[in-house]
Amino acid sequence: MARFNDVADKVLEVNPQSDLSLLQRAYVFSAKVHEGQARLSGEPYLVHPVEVAGILADMRLDEVTVAVGLLHDAVEDTLTTQDEIERLFGEEVAFLVDGLTKIARIEFTSVRERQAENFRKMLLAMSKDIRILLVKLADRLHNMRTLGFMEEDARRRIAQETLDIYAPLAHRLGIHWMKQELEDLAFRALKPAVVAELEEGLRSSRQERERYVEAVISVLSQKLVAAGLRCEVTGRLKDLASIHAKMEARGVGLDEIHDVIAFRVILDGTKEQVYAALGIVHGTWTPVPGRFKDYVALPKPNGYQSLHTTVIGPYGERMEVQIRTEEMHQNAEYGIAAHWSYKEGRVGDDEDAAKFAWLRQLLEWQRELSDPHEFLDTVKVDLFPDEVFVFTPRGDVMNLPKGATPLDFAYAIHSEVGAHCAGARVNGKLVPLRHRLSDGDTVQILTSTSQIPRKDWLEFVVSGRARSKIRHAVRVAEKERSRELGREILERELRRAGLSLSKLLDSGSLDEVARSEVGGVPEDLFSAVGYGTLPPIDVVRKLKPEAAPPAEPVARPRRRRLFGRSPAPSSSGIRVSGQGDVLVRFAGCCAPLPGDEISGFVTRGRGVTIHSKECDKVFALDPERRIDVQWDAEASVPRRVKVRITSVDRPGILAAITKSISSAGLNIDEARVSTSPDQKAISDFDVLVKDVRTLNAVMKEIERIRGVISVERVRA
Ligand code: MN
Repeated sequence: MARFNDVADKVLEVNPQSDLSLLQRAYVFSAKVHEGQARLSGEPYLVHPVEVAGILADMRLDEVTVAVGLLHDAVEDTLTTQDEIERLFGEEVAFLVDGLTKIARIEFTSVRERQAENFRKMLLAMSKDIRILLVKLADRLHNMRTLGFMEEDARRRIAQETLDIYAPLAHRLGIHWMKQELEDLAFRALKPAVVAELEEGLRSSRQERERYVEAVISVLSQKLVAAGLRCEVTGRLKDLASIHAKMEARGVGLDEIHDVIAFRVILDGTKEQVYAALGIVHGTWTPVPGRFKDYVALPKPNGYQSLHTTVIGPYGERMEVQIRTEEMHQNAEYGIAAHWSYKEGRVGDDEDAAKFAWLRQLLEWQRELSDPHEFLDTVKVDLFPDEVFVFTPRGDVMNLPKGATPLDFAYAIHSEVGAHCAGARVNGKLVPLRHRLSDGDTVQILTSTSQIPRKDWLEFVVSGRARSKIRHAVRVAEKERSRELGREILERELRRAGLSLSKLLDSGSLDEVARSEVGGVPEDLFSAVGYGTLPPIDVVRKLKPEAAPPAEPVARPRRRRLFGRSPAPSSSGIRVSGQGDVLVRFAGCCAPLPGDEISGFVTRGRGVTIHSKECDKVFALDPERRIDVQWDAEASVPRRVKVRITSVDRPGILAAITKSISSAGLNIDEARVSTSPDQKAISDFDVLVKDVRTLNAVMKEIERIRGVISVERVRA
């Protein structure tokens, strides 16, 4: 309870208008739901959420964030439900707690270098409100502080995870002190023997070090003050991890390392005075060439600003000095959190300024992370608007474009997995292949050797990789089909001329024709015929110049074109696999018209038959023979359809109907009129019409004629 009062005081200190009752309710609730639970240290569990709240209060975050610190483990570790949190604490708190619960469920199974960045990005992507991430970091920090109670294995694993994921995130957010502490704690957990040795060494040299620090501070402060600069100079022991790294890098022992101290000058002044102070430092001690860094003029991507220099100190040793203003220091220590907290004594009127500073900061790291994009609002951000992060069943993170489906995932794993993808489970549940994946989903792909890439997959995949692989596979399959089609067409034309394809192939005469006509082998010849770029009769004439043109009325290409030229409009009004001039016939059963949805089928010896997609026959035909067909937008070939008009039997009505049809520009090919037993006139017209829209317009027109009862299109 004492600690909680501290937390509440701190929140109030930052903003006197804070809603303390929210904090109190969160505290009481947390105490209730965690009752009876204990930490490994033996302390009541409640200590943990209160400590996390304390860290957040120290970071000067608002009461909502601090309350979320108190509640962060409630849904994950107790029987509390998300609804309960929302009912008791409102939408905002519930949203944040939900985010934390989701993050808590991520398992960082394979924290290898390759994966670490993806995990970091995933955490950022899942933190739709940046406060979620701040609470998560505070949670991790407290867990690291109490790591000693864990088993050796868990300790190492958590420490490594902290180094790989959380410390870099704190760094990215610009919260320097937290990054330092996390790294230091992780280093202690991972290298206890090294740490013990270092600490022993540092202990024995402490007095000497303190004298040295005092001497430097006194010289430097005097010179700075004499120059009229208001400042504070400090000298701190660097963190153990960086001292160790230096020793390793230079292969030296602790007694040879003089620069274990980092000196820092913090100015109560302007940006210009930072450079004035630098001049004094460089005027007092000789700078080491190449060691000066100006992060004031060129801030780091996370917003960090400071001057860094190394000089040869009073005892001839290397000495590192950082120089910055108070404001730069605040930013360095607290990063984005610095922009968040209310500025002391300036509550209210400065809120807008703070918000803008915060937005600017966000924009800055957005630039570092990915393309800058819009924000939901000042705190709710989607850092990766174009990406989605999902898990493989083994726990690896895959990074896919937003809107990605299980198929995109499958192709990202391997093109063979994509090609044979027959189904998918997301978080254990079967989903359709067009299902859109969300951050944190675990995706499992089901494959089948009989599954092959389908053209309709292109309608929903979003990744370039999946798209190009599917397109390629579909093209190969279509090519295969048109070759088969061409072979059939050619075989039939040859037979009509009394020639046998297999004999011609055996004798090699077809090789010659293939060379001269398409510059290839007979297979290419079949393709050319199948794609309609080479009329089969040309092949026949080559082999048998006296061969007669076919007698049967099929829509035959009239144009001769060489293989490889861009397709000309089709004479049939149909494109097969994107090509014009293919032998096609229209099925009599459904008589499709331009504008109707159609399917094509390769018919043995008769080219491609076009059916309406709704035609019953379509379902009876072999799907293997189906081929992609479209109406040719440029060709306009009138097609014959039957229209039946039922009307009262009165004089002049037939003339009115006929007039309607011809004034629409349609030709009547044939008309039959009969009378039904109930004395109604039934007129059947065969009209030539160029598309379904025109036909529908005319039928509407006829319907309006007085005495007409019904107008219908007749499909046999
Ligand atoms: Mn926790």
